[in-house]
Amino acid sequence: MSAQPARNSTREWQALDRAHVHPFTDHAQLHKVGPRVITKAEGTHLIDSEGVKLLDAFAGLWCVNVGYGRKSIAEVAYKQLLELPYYNTFFKTTHPPVAELSRILIDMTPKQFNHVFYGQSGSDANDTIVRMVRSYWNLKKQPKKKTIIARTNGYHGSTMVAASLGGMSYMHELADLPLPGFVHIRQPYWYGEGGDMTPDAFGKLCAQALEDKIQELGPENIAAFIGEPIQGAGGVIIPPQTYWPEIQKICKKHDILLIADEVICGFGRTGHWFASEYYGIEADFMTLAKGITSGYIPLSAIMVGDRVADVLGAMGDFAHGFTYSGHPVACAVAIENIRIMNDEKLVDRVKNETGPYLAKRMQEFLDHPLVGEVRNLGLMGAIELVKDKKTRKTFDPVGDTGTICRDHCFKLGLVMRATRDTMLISPPLTWTKADIDEWAGLTKQALDLTAKEVGKA
Ligand code: PMP
Repeated sequence: MSAQPARNSTREWQALDRAHVHPFTDHAQLHKVGPRVITKAEGTHLIDSEGVKLLDAFAGLWCVNVGYGRKSIAEVAYKQLLELPYYNTFFKTTHPPVAELSRILIDMTPKQFNHVFYGQSGSDANDTIVRMVRSYWNLKKQPKKKTIIARTNGYHGSTMVAASLGGMSYMHELADLPLPGFVHIRQPYWYGEGGDMTPDAFGKLCAQALEDKIQELGPENIAAFIGEPIQGAGGVIIPPQTYWPEIQKICKKHDILLIADEVICGFGRTGHWFASEYYGIEADFMTLAKGITSGYIPLSAIMVGDRVADVLGAMGDFAHGFTYSGHPVACAVAIENIRIMNDEKLVDRVKNETGPYLAKRMQEFLDHPLVGEVRNLGLMGAIELVKDKKTRKTFDPVGDTGTICRDHCFKLGLVMRATRDTMLISPPLTWTKADIDEWAGLTKQALDLTAKEVGKA
């Protein structure tokens, strides 16, 4: 193969992308407008191939928690690449980065977690958890306990199993999902579905849906329940305070394993190291990815609770693993990433300073003609755009207004994400009050332009 010529123009990169790449994209749109080419990033900003600077209010994809351009992470990766770029953790071998990271994760996660299993992505981690759940019940001689209950509009990844756990109907349609053994109950989305109920009453009602589903299918058939403490991709759906305690009770009552998917919520996003701590969730598994390395390199980790680890550990060979499970460079990067978060007290800062300040600035949007609700926990928030603020009536079709707003954000130099007509924010945890002010100013402009375009100004 001959060496590839160096390319240096937006057009050339766009042509290659159109021809050969692209996850989660409307391909018709892509072919019309072409992708934006991001070439650099520094701190809290991205720079595209035309030199345009963008404020990244989405931390890449909910993941660049320590911000861009961390030299110490690059240095640690470089050193590790020279020292031991790769070795596997199969067949009774290990290496220092994986051993050390495991100790760190065990020390920082809730006390029931004393075992870790590594993967490359949130999706394969959730896949692995399903395998562990099934093995657990087989070993406990309750092989009928196989069905996993998840939630409508939950997101757990894109493999066949992870997408089956997820409750996104448009993902199910693609490939005849969910697979057998995966069922879904309603989500605790008070603003969208709570009507006149108080949030607390609605939280209990949504938890009752778990009890009802268990009764419908028979507790002897239910293996586990999975949920994101706060649904991310589904639209930053923050459950009422009554929800998780009730879910926890129901799982205990019926001897059902509880899986907390902390892929987005983990590593400080909510102002707590893990949202499970905030909600008092005592999970049997926690799925970790994204913020574990701040997205600098792929890594996921499954925290396995003692109750499960004790049973699986007695089994002998757990015939499961990936070539890159516990990759040394990824583990070294994770260690450095966590060191930065600790040294800079990023989690405290989100909890006590920037999270509350974001809430305050978001409240100001409630006067806007398009905005029905704002909500956040830490640096994870949502702005609901609605046709009628009083009745919470949505636009028809749902989704166009969010897309219009997202495009205005882009033109103004701001990256936000839209789910339905809900604008989502999830910035690097390094954001200062000044960054939040910059965001609020740009968002206000984008909302005004959107209101004009949809006739609500
Ligand atoms: N779980 C949750 C809660 C997620 O948000 C995501 C990704 N957004 C995943 C799992 C899947 O992670 P990955 O894309 O790394 O496979």
